[in-house]
Amino acid sequence: MKKKISIIIPTYNEEESLPFLHEKLNEIMGQMQDYDFEILFVNDGSKDKSLEIIKSFRQADERYNYVDFSRNFGQEIAMAAGIDYVTGDCAIFMDADLQDPPELIPELVKHWEEGYDDVYARRRNRTGEGFFKKFTSKMYYRVLQKMTNVEIQKDTGNYRLIDKRCINALRKMTESERCLKSMFSWMGYKKKEVLFDRPPRVAGKTKWNYIKLFDLAINGITSFTTSPLRLATYFAIPTFVLLGIYAIYVIAKCFVTHTMVQAFQAIILLILFFSGIQILLFGIVGEYLGRIFNETKNRPLYFVNEYNGEKETNEKLDTK
Ligand code: UDP
Ligand code: MG
Repeated sequence: MKKKISIIIPTYNEEESLPFLHEKLNEIMGQMQDYDFEILFVNDGSKDKSLEIIKSFRQADERYNYVDFSRNFGQEIAMAAGIDYVTGDCAIFMDADLQDPPELIPELVKHWEEGYDDVYARRRNRTGEGFFKKFTSKMYYRVLQKMTNVEIQKDTGNYRLIDKRCINALRKMTESERCLKSMFSWMGYKKKEVLFDRPPRVAGKTKWNYIKLFDLAINGITSFTTSPLRLATYFAIPTFVLLGIYAIYVIAKCFVTHTMVQAFQAIILLILFFSGIQILLFGIVGEYLGRIFNETKNRPLYFVNEYNGEKETNEKLDTK
């Protein structure tokens, strides 16, 4: 029996890129005769001819499959649908615009055959992207890594191959505010890095803008960690320290100069005291909120790699 490789491609208004992609995929599938293939397009509410084009692919070749969304739900959700519908022994996530070069597939598969569960493609450079985008993205990952114990893969998009058991694992991570990239990190498993040069998109325009990227960034942080909620607690501590120092100073001064506490000093003390208490209470609320947030995500507590020397497939994995 041949192993089946599934390729998940979120697609939104890609009528211009699809023919190029189709050609490349056919070429690769032709080269890799030892495997069965399933190409799964998730049409994310495209307003152009994307769906018709995909349908025509399927008419010519049953290995092409598609899920057609009722409207545009966004790339993250499109990939989530891919995870649900995919049937292969492994799955590759790929963009429709050839920015994730299909030529890399044989190498991804090779490492998968060596026993790696998550073979991710890391960008060596980012041609066609502005300085600002590169810089912000770099800073973002640096900050994100500081906030969490989970190891984050740098310069890595969604282009990767994951084993079936990772697919099963991801199916159990059902949160609705999703950031797949951080979910890949969180799920763990044997990871392998493959370097590649990311070309500019073959045709059409990027569907991302800074507002969408910002949303994704926030989702990335909040799906990793609730530590921003702890900020309040951190602010409360210096406020109280300040209060203490100032209080000692004011009282000591009263003793030394034999005067009363002055009105403005009393006001400063009161402000420090009450704002300290308020921030602290915020922090406490934040702590509980963070716990509720984590509970509502309802993620599994852990994923198992092996049981008594046998590879855990996660097929019967149950939440909790
Ligand atoms: N995409 C999608 N839904 C969206 C936006 C984008 O499915 O709402 C798809 C898009 O068709 C492409 C992939 O997600 O296959 C990546 O999008 P894009 O190339 O625009 O992002 P970039 O590479 O510029 O980050
Ligand atoms: Mg792209």
